[in-house]
Order: sequence, then structure tokens, then C-alpha cells
Amino acid sequence: MAREFTYGPFTSRRLGLSLGVDILPRSKICTYNCVYCEIGATDPTNLVSPQCRITEPSNVKHFEKELTTLFKYIKKLDSITFGYNGEPTLNSYLEDFYEVAKIVRKRTNWKEVPPKLTLFTNSSTLYKQEIRDVVKKFELVLGKLDIATQEDFLRINRPHRDVPPIETIIDALTHLKSEMPKNHRLGIQCLFYQSYIEDFKSNNNKQNIESLSKAINKIKPDIVQLYSIARIPAEYFIYSLDHQNLVKIKQKIEKSLSNSTKIYCY
Ligand code: SF4
Repeated sequence: MAREFTYGPFTSRRLGLSLGVDILPRSKICTYNCVYCEIGATDPTNLVSPQCRITEPSNVKHFEKELTTLFKYIKKLDSITFGYNGEPTLNSYLEDFYEVAKIVRKRTNWKEVPPKLTLFTNSSTLYKQEIRDVVKKFELVLGKLDIATQEDFLRINRPHRDVPPIETIIDALTHLKSEMPKNHRLGIQCLFYQSYIEDFKSNNNKQNIESLSKAINKIKPDIVQLYSIARIPAEYFIYSLDHQNLVKIKQKIEKSLSNSTKIYCY
């Protein structure tokens, strides 16, 4: 049987041994067109509103068969990770795919602790209650927030015009955290980059770090993951920020933290 929905498993810097699940069409579909996107620029026709809901792929039966077949062989795994080819919350059937993964995980005879169900989201759709109601079911939610000023948000994440302002997205992440079950974890993912073009400044700038620190204090996530580009970015003038600078950013954010959020650099 051909694999339609899954990648790997691969060893991930942030998740351990992770089986990727992609519930989006073959070409990337997203509400953002980030300058640093490692799967390439978002085609203008696939840069969609956060209100857009796609109904394909929808074949949850095939997904069930695929996972069941894979788990005959894979008996040790850290994470079943939804994400990859764009924004997974755009798929109307996200909850159905989640339920299938949960059922197949339960049926599998794991050698060690069963893998957690993880979701990557760019956070742009979380202002909708019905989306948060599905997202909070995942045991680990990794929400993107690498920019906390509106000016940098428009410049760097280049959102679809219907995406709400960054303040609304920060509020949505705050609501999500308060609505998640106590044993589920929210992680904030902050990607930092550098730029070869002088007037296209890095998001490692004073104003953004201060705004991000305030946002993290407000959201109170369990973890924050700071990282940089590991593959080819969408724009030629973008490049990776080194580990030393990531550590400096970590220290700056930690100084202003008033809660128990843990910050990691990758
Ligand atoms: S949100 Fe993720 S998938 Fe979408 S453009 Fe940005 S980096 Fe790429």
C-alpha cells in the first residue's frame, strides 16, 4: 500500500523520533508566506484566508490503514506529528484524522511509552473557538510566534490579508493555553533568522525581543523553543542565526519571565 499521509519516522531536534503526518494537498497551502519558509514560497493561489477550509484530503480510512500497517513495524516512537506542508488546521477533517491516530495508537503494542500526538500550527486560525476546540485535544501543540510586533509580522510572515493582527493571535494563544487540559502542553516556536539586506532587519531586534517577552509572559506556555533555519529558506537574502545568538535571546527573554515557562535553544 502506497503511503499517502505519513513521513519518516525521522529524528527531530525538538521531538525525538517523530512520524510526520501531512493532511494537506501535495502543494503547500498556508495562511502565511514566511520569508524563511523551508518548504519554499507560498504560491499566491495557495496563500489562503484563515477562514478557508479544505475538504481534501479526507480519506481517514486510508490513513487508518496506513498507520496500522506502519505500526506493525514501528514499536518505538516519541511523537506522531501533524504539520509539514503548510497549515494543518485548514483541513476540515483535522479532528477525524486526530481521532484515527489516537485509536490506532491505542491498538498498538508499544515497547515503551506510546508516542504523544503533536500538532504544529502557525497560530493564525486559533482566534476561532471551533479550531481551538480541536487543537487542544493534541497532547503537545507547537504554535508559531516568532514576531510580536505588527510591522515585523507583516514584513516577515507575510500573512493573507484576512489574518487578524498579531495582538489577536497572541490573545488566541493565551486562550488556548487556558483551555487546554492540564496534562497537555503548549510550546511556542520562535524561529530567528539573519538577513544579507541591510534594510530588511532580522527579527533579532530589540523591539521584537521585548514584545515577544511580553507576549510569552501573557500566554504562559509550558515551553518556548528558539531555533533557526536548517534548510533552504524561501528568500535568497535570509540565512541562519547562530547558536550563540540564540542563547543570548534566551537569556534576554528569561530575564523578563514572571512564570515557569522553560526556554530551549536548538
Ligand atoms: S507558516 Fe510555516 S508553512 Fe506557512 S509559510 Fe510560514 S514557515 Fe512556511
